[in-house]
Amino acid sequence: MNIIIHLTESFESEKIYVCDYIFCQRLGFQVSYRYGNTSEYLLEMPGGLKLVVKDVYFDMLRGKVAYSQACLPEAPEYLSIEGVSDPLPVFYGSPELVQDEHSILRADIIGMFFFYLTGWEQVVDSERDSHGRFSALRSFAWRNNLLHRPVLDEWIDALRIIFLKQVPQIDNLPIVSADNQMRLSHDVDWPYLFYSKSMWASFERSARFMLRNHQSLFSIILSPLSWTLSQFGSSFRDPYDTFDLIMDVAECNGVKSTFYFLANTEATYNADDYCLTDSRIQEIVRHIDRRGHSIGLHGSYHAYNDACLLAQEFKLLLDVCDKLNIGSEPHSHRFHYLRWNTFMTPSILEQAGIGEDCTGGYADIPGFRFGTCHAFPLWSLKECRKINVTEQPLIAMERTLLDDNYMGFNNLEALEYILDLKKSCSTVHGCFSLLWHNSCLSTALDRDLFTKSVCMK
Ligand SMILES: [Zn+2]
Repeated sequence: MNIIIHLTESFESEKIYVCDYIFCQRLGFQVSYRYGNTSEYLLEMPGGLKLVVKDVYFDMLRGKVAYSQACLPEAPEYLSIEGVSDPLPVFYGSPELVQDEHSILRADIIGMFFFYLTGWEQVVDSERDSHGRFSALRSFAWRNNLLHRPVLDEWIDALRIIFLKQVPQIDNLPIVSADNQMRLSHDVDWPYLFYSKSMWASFERSARFMLRNHQSLFSIILSPLSWTLSQFGSSFRDPYDTFDLIMDVAECNGVKSTFYFLANTEATYNADDYCLTDSRIQEIVRHIDRRGHSIGLHGSYHAYNDACLLAQEFKLLLDVCDKLNIGSEPHSHRFHYLRWNTFMTPSILEQAGIGEDCTGGYADIPGFRFGTCHAFPLWSLKECRKINVTEQPLIAMERTLLDDNYMGFNNLEALEYILDLKKSCSTVHGCFSLLWHNSCLSTALDRDLFTKSVCMK
C-alpha cells in the first residue's frame, strides 16, 4: 500500500531515516516523499485521507547537527489511545490525538524515534563508568521508568491501530514480526578454565574459581590433573566447557545459538589470551558449526573506538572460518564489555565490514536501550547518514542480573525479571535477545536458571 509523506527539507536525511523505519520496515507501506514548507509531517493515505503529525523536535533545533543539549527531553506526558493497553509516553509534542475526517497527532513520533534509535543523549552527556560506558542510570528511559518498556514498538502498534481506524480501505495491516522470537548468544571470554599456558597460572585461576564457587579443596587439588589433561585436548572437569550443554538447551527449544569469539592476537581486558589459530579453539568452532549454530566476532576491549583494530579482528575470524570451511560466513558481532561510543561506533562497524551488531544493551540494567526489540539500521551521528549495519538490540545479559556490581539478584529474582522482559518482547512481536556466557554455567543453580530462561513453552 502506498502513502505519500510531505516534509520540510531541513534535516531531510534524518527524517527519511526514521520515516523509512516506521512506515516501510515496521508497517509495510510503500512510501514516497514530497517537500514543502510546513512544520508538520503530512501523511496522504489511500482515499485522500490525511494524518498530520507535528514536527516539534527538528523544528526546535537551530543548528547544523541533529541533536543538542537544549533539546534533551523532559519527563514524558502520557497519551491513551483506544485499543492500546498502556498509555504511551510523549516527550516531544503534546499527548493529543484528534481523530476526525483528517487526523492530527500532536505527539512528534519522528523526533521520539530519532532520540531512541540514535541514542544521541549519550553524546551530549559525557559522564561514563570505569569502562567508558554510558550508564543506564543516566538514561532518559531509566530516569522515567521506561527502560523495561519497548516504547517504540508500542508506538508502532498504536500507529497500526490509528491507521486501521482512520482508513477504511485498509482492512488489514499485517504485523511485521521479528525473524526470531529469541536470540541466544554467548561471549566466549574464557573458553576453558584449565586452558592457561602454564600449570601454575591454571592452578591459581582454578583456586580462585573454586573458592568463589564454594567448591571443595579436592577440586582445587584436582586442577593440576585437569590442566595436564587439557594439554592433550581433554576438557575433563572443565567448568567453562559448557558449549554442548548450551547447544542442547537451545536445540530443545528450537533456538540457534551464536558464539562470539575474541580474535585479538593480544590479551584483551579481563579475558583469556586464547588464539583463534590454536587447534583446540578451532575444534570447538568446527563443532559449533557442525551442530548448526553460528560463529560471530567478539570485538576486543579497545575495538569499539578503533576501526583498524576491529577490521583486523574481523578479517582474522573470516580467514579462520574460511580455512575451517565453516558453513555460514560470520557476519554478526558484539563488543567485549558492551562498550559503545554512540558518536563513532556505528561507522566503525561499517568500516570493518560487519553486517549485524548485537551489542545494544546497557551492562548495568537490562531492558530496551533503543526502545525496541526489533532489528533496525544504525545511524551515524558523526556522518549524518544511515549506516549499512543492522542493530539487533540486546535485552538481557546474565551478569547484569546476577553480579553484585550490577543488580545482584538471586536466581529467583533474576528469572522473574527475565521472564517479564521476554513477555514484553513477545507482546510486541519482537525478539528477546539473551546473552549468557559459557563461563557462567558452572553450578547446577546457574544451569537451572539458564534452562528456565531459554524455555519457550
Ligand atoms: Zn566479553
